[in-house]
Amino acid sequence: NVIKTQGEEVDYRGVLHRDGSVLMSVSLNQLKTPELLYKSLAAKLVVGMPFKDLATVDSILLRQLPPVDDNDSRLALKRLIDVSMGVITPLSEQLTKPLPNAMVLVNSKELSTGAYKLLPEGTRMVVSVRGDEPYEVLDILKGIDATMLLHDLPFSEDKVSRVHAARRLFEYLGDNSLNFPVIHHIQFPSGIHRDDLVIAAGTNAGALLVDGLGDGLLLEAADKDFDFLRNTSFNLLQGCRMRNTKTEYVSCPSCGRTLFDLQEISAQIREKTSHLPGVSIAIMGCIVNGPGEMADADFGYVGGAPGKIDLYVGKTVVKRAIEMEHATDALIQLIKDHGRWVDPPAEE
Ligand code: SF4
Repeated sequence: NVIKTQGEEVDYRGVLHRDGSVLMSVSLNQLKTPELLYKSLAAKLVVGMPFKDLATVDSILLRQLPPVDDNDSRLALKRLIDVSMGVITPLSEQLTKPLPNAMVLVNSKELSTGAYKLLPEGTRMVVSVRGDEPYEVLDILKGIDATMLLHDLPFSEDKVSRVHAARRLFEYLGDNSLNFPVIHHIQFPSGIHRDDLVIAAGTNAGALLVDGLGDGLLLEAADKDFDFLRNTSFNLLQGCRMRNTKTEYVSCPSCGRTLFDLQEISAQIREKTSHLPGVSIAIMGCIVNGPGEMADADFGYVGGAPGKIDLYVGKTVVKRAIEMEHATDALIQLIKDHGRWVDPPAEE
């Protein structure tokens, strides 16, 4: 029973991205330095004002709203809302210190007690569900208009599998023709190792996203830096073949036949070409298995002989035996010749 397909008939209403969304949790402290916050959200800055582009965070979750007299923080939020960034705030916060045009997070308890009915008509709701609620609770979803759902089963609950709970939720939504976008919201425990976080995000959310189940990610870990969580989210969406925000690289694992320092050269190439979403570059240590392994890449950089590089466009070799020291520049020229190059964005 496949339930729902990414990108089809879903109303993203500007606060999500149709190829997969990244949501981030933002603290009150971050609002104190708006320009830093805009940069952390990967927003483009034009005269100090934020603008969204392909790699900008789509919506933010605020656990607390700034006081009504904190004009600077509220102005920072207003500017984000003005460029269609969703700002999600808890129901209780929105009732006590309302922020115009914010979305409101409603959990399953507030759904079943009817507390969400206290909100002014037209308020956009984000409903957080665990996926293992009784069907009577999920049935309330049939009577409401939610902008998105957060699948929000606490990570520490080892009795219930997140993946199974999510599959149950998607099955329910599909059976009832409820076409809400669903964001995988994972709150990681403090102290989790960065590698474990990446693996857990991949196994819990990535496994579903590759099946077309879900529309984005909200990864939270109080002791991990913001950029790491944002990059992990975008990398996961790209790995799931959803939203390409940077260059895709294919590389061989290297072996005894490798004709150059694969790691060093890969790092050099990445440094100069990582800003080309939609372009894929293969870096292969030799030609033995190269062409087969790099079949999907747009451009190939392949060891041809000691100190010499061959360049490919698709599976066709177009330049042979380039001296190693000129090969990265030759690769960039090749990308330019094929109209796939853009200059890196200038830092304001
Ligand atoms: S492409 Fe060549 S260098 Fe790379 S792993 Fe395969 S055989 Fe080894």
